[in-house]
Amino acid sequence: MALDQTALKLLVNWFPECRREMPWRTDPSPYHVWVSEVMLQQTRVDTVIPYYERFIAALPDPEALAACPQDALMKLWEGLGYYSRVRHMQEAAAVMVREHGGQVPDSMEALRKLPGIGSYTAGAVLSIAFHRPVPVVDGNVLRVVSRLNGSFEDVRSQSVRKRMEGTLAGLLSEGELDPSTVNQALMELGALVCIPNGQPKCGSCPVRGRCEAHLRGLTEEIPVLSPRIPKKNALLTVLVLRRGNLFGVVKRPGKGLLSGLYGFPVSEGRLSEAEASGAARALGFRVVSSERLRPARHVFTHLVWEMDAYLLNVEGDCPDVRFVTPDELADRIALPAAFRKWPELF
Ligand code: SF4
Repeated sequence: MALDQTALKLLVNWFPECRREMPWRTDPSPYHVWVSEVMLQQTRVDTVIPYYERFIAALPDPEALAACPQDALMKLWEGLGYYSRVRHMQEAAAVMVREHGGQVPDSMEALRKLPGIGSYTAGAVLSIAFHRPVPVVDGNVLRVVSRLNGSFEDVRSQSVRKRMEGTLAGLLSEGELDPSTVNQALMELGALVCIPNGQPKCGSCPVRGRCEAHLRGLTEEIPVLSPRIPKKNALLTVLVLRRGNLFGVVKRPGKGLLSGLYGFPVSEGRLSEAEASGAARALGFRVVSSERLRPARHVFTHLVWEMDAYLLNVEGDCPDVRFVTPDELADRIALPAAFRKWPELF
């Protein structure tokens, strides 16, 4: 028993019956697959669907994506986080327009040269949209295959992933099965049946008769995951500047976390109310009144922001601070989720 053609055939037969409907599955063009795969990195399917539909309606092809103004692009992405993803997508779309006739290229070599496209995304585009025999190994596939194989190897290890990609590439290149269906079926089984948290639903699994972990009672021990490196904590103080019914936002630096996006001014460390007022005065404002807001936290991939926050009613101006209405904050300015912790204010 283990991952072999028989197990893959069982999965391929199971997939059409059990797969979830998703808008990118209705028309799996290379562009649609690419956009959906980038959105799905770090983000759940349910969350992605409305973003995907809005994005594709506004930017239906690489040409439209390449030409989209930055602020409009960021607004389409607002709330999905990891904004470098969409920046890279726009850079990649520009290359597609310049060098590939406005199309998503169909070779691993050309795809891997594009900004933001690694082997996983390239594999997804090539197999799902172009039906090429290329493996796609995500967390779901790592879990399913290591259970099928009864493997105690650490699925967070790069060498394990590489070996699994090699095994799958070999099975796909035998040419009996459609790579698009195989890859999607493996991922779907991991999302719906061989689930990450809680007991896998082996009773309804199409490959239970060929699964080492199930047959040997090892589903609680497999997959083996080495401990993650703990995230770092950063202490910040957020200054929510309000002038009349306008709120002050600043464009963040061009490099680093949330680069180039709008946010509220922040100071490193935990400031007292008096110190926060002093920070606003240092920007050139007169502080009329201040109020301590709820502390909040925002979790990034490798970092946690622990935020103290103050609402500061101010007068005056500062060239770096742009004052906008609550409607602009809602409709036009892409304000990252880290700064949307106090919705009662807007
Ligand atoms: S039988 Fe159970 S453990 Fe094995 S692949 Fe299916 S759901 Fe996962």
